[in-house]
Amino acid sequence: MTPHTPSYDYGECELCDTPLEERDVTQDFWIRGELVVIDHVRAGVCPQCGAKVVNQEVGEQLLGLFEHPEYVTAVPRISVPVVMFDEYVERYVHA
Ligand SMILES: [Zn+2]
Repeated sequence: MTPHTPSYDYGECELCDTPLEERDVTQDFWIRGELVVIDHVRAGVCPQCGAKVVNQEVGEQLLGLFEHPEYVTAVPRISVPVVMFDEYVERYVHA
């Protein structure tokens, strides 16, 4: 096996047993109180229910981001909408 394996067998979806397909996905999580979006993450995606899994190598690389906050600080930023859910429900669901 070469160190730069082009693809990986993700097996089947834990939720619906559909074979997972390898795709580049966008993953987001919170790092030190900031929402961080990570684009072009290689993952296994369920074509049936949309569940996503990453292999161990990619998982460790993602976790490594926590150790390099200076990199996260330097990358481009986007602004995202923040919904106050109770206000939304008040205005649109109970209207
Ligand atoms: Zn599934």
